[in-house]
Amino acid sequence: MNEQEKLQAIQNRNSSYDGKFIFGVKTTKIICRPGCPARLPLEKNIVFFGTMEEAIEKGYRPCKRCKPKLVNQSQEGK
Ligand SMILES: [Zn+2]
Repeated sequence: MNEQEKLQAIQNRNSSYDGKFIFGVKTTKIICRPGCPARLPLEKNIVFFGTMEEAIEKGYRPCKRCKPKLVNQSQEGK
């Protein structure tokens, strides 16, 4: 899966990509799943992450609408 494919998945709100990757929006610092119903971010503001941990480490937080926490769920200690 390359970035172009990921971008397209976001733009088409292709929920079959849910769980395959997550993305952050630089301007809002929100992490979303590809199928998120929220307003589409500008392409230049999209950043891809492999895992939630990685995103959270960079100061992002999960979107309340698509709850990307469910993605890449390993074991949540809390
Ligand atoms: Zn979202």
